[in-house]
Amino acid sequence: MSVTLIDAAAHRRIAELGQRVLAGGGVTRAEGEWLFALARPEDRLDLLVWANRIREHFHGRRVRLCSIVNVKAGGCPEDCRFCAQSAVHAADSPRHALLEADEVREAAREAQAQGVAALGLVAAWRDLREGPALDQMCARLTELKQSGQVRPDASLGMIRSQKVADRLKAAGCECYNHNLETSRRFFSQVCTTHTYEDRVRTLHYLKQAGIRICSGGILGMGETREDRCDLAFALRELGAHTVPLNFLNPIAGTPFARLTPLAPMEILQIIACFRFILPQSEITIAGGRAVNLRDLQSWIFMAGASALMVGNYLTTANQPVAKDLQMLKDLGLSWRGDEPGGPRAVPASAAAPPVPAAA
Ligand code: SF4
Repeated sequence: MSVTLIDAAAHRRIAELGQRVLAGGGVTRAEGEWLFALARPEDRLDLLVWANRIREHFHGRRVRLCSIVNVKAGGCPEDCRFCAQSAVHAADSPRHALLEADEVREAAREAQAQGVAALGLVAAWRDLREGPALDQMCARLTELKQSGQVRPDASLGMIRSQKVADRLKAAGCECYNHNLETSRRFFSQVCTTHTYEDRVRTLHYLKQAGIRICSGGILGMGETREDRCDLAFALRELGAHTVPLNFLNPIAGTPFARLTPLAPMEILQIIACFRFILPQSEITIAGGRAVNLRDLQSWIFMAGASALMVGNYLTTANQPVAKDLQMLKDLGLSWRGDEPGGPRAVPASAAAPPVPAAA
């Protein structure tokens, strides 16, 4: 096969950037934009090869699994245009009030049995303020922490004061998810009831409290490649410990219902670019994985993903956990439960947990 001069130049440049990241260096904004703009299949495959090396170097062969439980579903007053839980849209999404403590305990037991490292308590509301809801969430987090079953994480909306973040930390919350969702430039196309700055402020309160930041976004909402690059660099600047990447699965009744989903190779390229820009962060592949990647799902690790959300998402189903664990085994990767004393075998009965009533 002949290799053109342009092929060789792209090949060399990707290798130079990959070697620099492996040596502890970073890519510049211009270099990041160049990576996101690669459009030729052979260049994208080259990018994946290097992203895989970077993942192996910084994260090894152990994949972190996390899952979520929707402690309060639906009826959110915000208007995020991708979200089925928004009361502003006409999506048919389940609603329920705050779950009882025993329901959260059951979710933790199931997560632990599946080898999941962290369980996130997720609520569909605008923000978390001082009051009964905060008291209840803190009680749930403390109970989870004391049980030692799974790491207690949370995703409970915006935080408007340092005091709330400090209380979450004191209750045992180790990691809090609050996505930037997209770039600062594109954010107003996604949501008009709060701002990108509101989200950044929440992350600062969490950081100040000593809670690890889990923040990423949703790709495929009509953003440009520059917007994706902006998001990756904003997360780098904020010091995101974990970066969940979701790929829009358009839901009927939401304003984004008619958007065309991203193609599998474009999704893999996005993951790889995030890996180059954020080599040390956990990159977790979350919503939209199975439906958008189809047969290429297992390629996410070669593209640089180091973590996986298993079990159902907030408003959409995922593939069964047993299938995810089999995928990891087939790839020669391990996970938290795949260790001496852990649930080493793929549990035949590890069907996906019931769809948590609602985001
Ligand atoms: S993404 Fe969160 S804040 Fe936005 S509408 Fe959905 S539940 Fe509400």
